Amino acid sequence: MITVLSGGGGGAKFVDGLSLLTKDFSVIANTGDDIEIYGLHVSPDVDTLMYTLSGVIDRKKGWGIKNDTFYCQKYLKSLGYEDWIMIGDKDLAVHVKRTELLKSGITLTEVTSALCKRFGVDIPLIPMTDDFFQTYIELDNKTIHFEEYYIKRPEGRIKKIIYSGKEKAKPSDRVFEALESSKWVILPPSNPLVSIGTILSLKGIRKILSEKKVIGISPLIQGKAVKGPLVELMESSDFEINSFGIAKYYQDLLDIFIIDSLEVDLADKIKGELGIEVFSTNTMMKTRKDRKRLCNFVLKRMENK
Ligand code: GDP
Repeated sequence: MITVLSGGGGGAKFVDGLSLLTKDFSVIANTGDDIEIYGLHVSPDVDTLMYTLSGVIDRKKGWGIKNDTFYCQKYLKSLGYEDWIMIGDKDLAVHVKRTELLKSGITLTEVTSALCKRFGVDIPLIPMTDDFFQTYIELDNKTIHFEEYYIKRPEGRIKKIIYSGKEKAKPSDRVFEALESSKWVILPPSNPLVSIGTILSLKGIRKILSEKKVIGISPLIQGKAVKGPLVELMESSDFEINSFGIAKYYQDLLDIFIIDSLEVDLADKIKGELGIEVFSTNTMMKTRKDRKRLCNFVLKRMENK
């Protein structure tokens, strides 16, 4: 059994590739991006993972349901609602269902299981916590929710990443069960600071990971993010903006780190200074074939350890 800690971008593409090779894994999803929109509980990473694993994802966009329409949102806009986040009609229906189920008193974990069943997802998809947890970005002049930052990309230097709810939020029993039954934990090419960092910030997660074998894949290629504001977020930290910086962020957890072939010159530094075993390969996942190939490479490194 394997557990993958994941966000909804690079993480979802990786999980898709893994599902083409094995069904023997669970996914723990970041819920720091969760946000209330139009009074509904939107869980961006959980949904991207669920849509990806069920095959309904809009692969071109990387979010939402393929061939979705946006009639409801257009109408909501005419009634004065904001539309900075695009939500399709079918997607909206999922948020209505999630919100209704949450209001009936069941947990986000149970709601996610019910939705996954409806979407035919047979891989366990587990939200990192059932408690309130939201990531905020503190800029020079304002503090905004990470999802809003991600989409609007306002000007200004990032001063701090705030994990709101971190002190009280606990991972659910399902999170611990998945990790306990896993020999390996994979940190896919997700954003370390806001997708995986949120999961790692929860009580007990780092401890249990220290008892597991952990393999990570860098989300940076030649010091650049494939998508999203990772570089901007890293600029607010002391980490070098390349795969060495990512390896250092995960230093106390990683047994193996996979970097892109284009950054192979960093391998000796990662190995020498951080003591982590390093392999390089093409980590760019443009097609499903790329996803499968990268996952196969990762599984092979795990087999040999
Ligand atoms: P988010 O929830 O949308 O932020 O998605 P994730 O956190 O799961 O993934 C975002 C990170 O994935 C970014 O830092 C990207 O650089 C990285 N990423 C996306 N696609 C790829 C890819 O094909 N290869 C690699 N190596 N990284 C990727």
